[in-house]
Amino acid sequence: MPAPPSLRRPELPQVLARRQERARYLREDRDFIDDEAIAALLAAARRPEPARVREALARSLALQRLEPDEAASLLMVEDPELWAEIFAAARGVKEKVYGPRVVTFAPLYLSNLCINSCLYCGFRRENDAQERCRLSPADVRREVLALIERGHKRLIVVYGEHPRSSLDYMIETIETVYATRSEGGEIRRVNVNAAPLTIAEGERLKQVGIGTYQVFQETYHHETYRRLHPRGPKADYVWRLYALHRAQEAGIDDVAIGALFGLYDWRYEVLGLLHHAIELERCFGGIGPHTISFPRLEPAAGALWGPQDSPYRVSDEDFRKLVAILRLAVPYTGLIVTAREPAEMRREALQLGCTQTDASSRIGIGAYSRCVDSCRPAAADQEGQDLHTQQFLLADLRELDDVVHELAGLGLLTSFCTAGYRCGRTGSRFMDLARQGKVRDFCLPNAILTLKEYLVDHASARTRQAGERLIEQHLAAIEPRLAGRLREWLAMIENGARDLRI
Ligand code: SAM
Ligand code: SF4
Repeated sequence: MPAPPSLRRPELPQVLARRQERARYLREDRDFIDDEAIAALLAAARRPEPARVREALARSLALQRLEPDEAASLLMVEDPELWAEIFAAARGVKEKVYGPRVVTFAPLYLSNLCINSCLYCGFRRENDAQERCRLSPADVRREVLALIERGHKRLIVVYGEHPRSSLDYMIETIETVYATRSEGGEIRRVNVNAAPLTIAEGERLKQVGIGTYQVFQETYHHETYRRLHPRGPKADYVWRLYALHRAQEAGIDDVAIGALFGLYDWRYEVLGLLHHAIELERCFGGIGPHTISFPRLEPAAGALWGPQDSPYRVSDEDFRKLVAILRLAVPYTGLIVTAREPAEMRREALQLGCTQTDASSRIGIGAYSRCVDSCRPAAADQEGQDLHTQQFLLADLRELDDVVHELAGLGLLTSFCTAGYRCGRTGSRFMDLARQGKVRDFCLPNAILTLKEYLVDHASARTRQAGERLIEQHLAAIEPRLAGRLREWLAMIENGARDLRI
């Protein structure tokens, strides 16, 4: 009798590919994160000269990526007045590269099955309180329809690591997402957060037409990584560290890195992320990460280790600092703040340098439609959160309409734009535009057009009013010929045209 899928060993070619590809990028048998060198860099940067800090700020404002020693000196600033200059410079870089817009998306959790044992995660395999399930194709359709109904155009699909949510399942579910349509529209970009893949698997994933592929290293500190990831494939630091190298080789040129802040010292992790960005640039013709994520560790039902246990818990003040320094260190890379953060912190982070955020997020399995075939009907245990199928707790459950309204009040356009990867503006093409400060030229018009679609199709009366006012303000500030063309397209959207883009 064949073994049930959960007990089956990985196919032999996969095992062989893994063995061969694991050491593919090591130099003299070492990976690119040198714990001692990072610690030494931070120690040497103590109490930096203001002139050195200002030099780094000037380089960043000229859209140059910072070197680790420059970032280290910013990280070690103590003087509140210098910090005020750092925050102002971060806002300046955000405005220069990205302009007044915030890209929005929703997470869609497909499965909470997992063979790993990350101590901080509700999905860890030993957590018996977790009700395990994965969405069937019919469930996926229901979830996607519920998200389309809310007005979303961009999703990030998220999977635990398990033979039952292997690459075949990922491909099947992503195809189902793209194939699901209703009068309210369709999902136009699917980003993926999943376990590391081999190069051949990455090639297959690329063919489904994904946007960005994300793998978070969680912590760059080797010893901490080993302690918090005791068993399962994720226990292999090196395999995970080079996941995005393999993705790039597979042709996925929008890759995203991240660290889970609170596992180890936040200053160390910022430098770890920067080293990762530099390593990707070095290996792939200057193409760094498309986005960086820096979630803070949240409580999770059934976790063995949480914020209350961590000596490295990140305070709000340090969180603002890390957002600002990442903004300055890699001006060409998008920064993502999620609904793990409470509303006030999200607001601040978006003004300080973040470029993307989620909204109306629910992360219980089947939580958007609350009607799934594959597990018991999802129940909201705690204010819309389902502790039995959820990885951790969210702090901000506001609906998309509320977020769009709030951002409009701050002068920020919510963008649902998905033109980038559909027009080939990925990888080196995107990076070149970002480095020249030209992303705005495409993204601002596309933000206006997609926001208009949202306002017409999904917004409440108050959000529509605030959004229309904001669009008018931005049109008035744009070069007149472009503004004229946009006005024509906005009228076409009023009359039923959809998916217009530059
Ligand atoms: N299982 C895949 C993996 O580990 O790569 C998919 C990622 S997991 C479903 C998504 C991310 O959630 C993880 O990479 C981790 O950074 C984050 N996460 C896990 N537990 C968390 C917690 N307690 N608080 C905040 N974020 C958490
Ligand atoms: Fe599994 Fe990812 Fe959670 Fe680790 S973080 S237990 S790999 S779902």
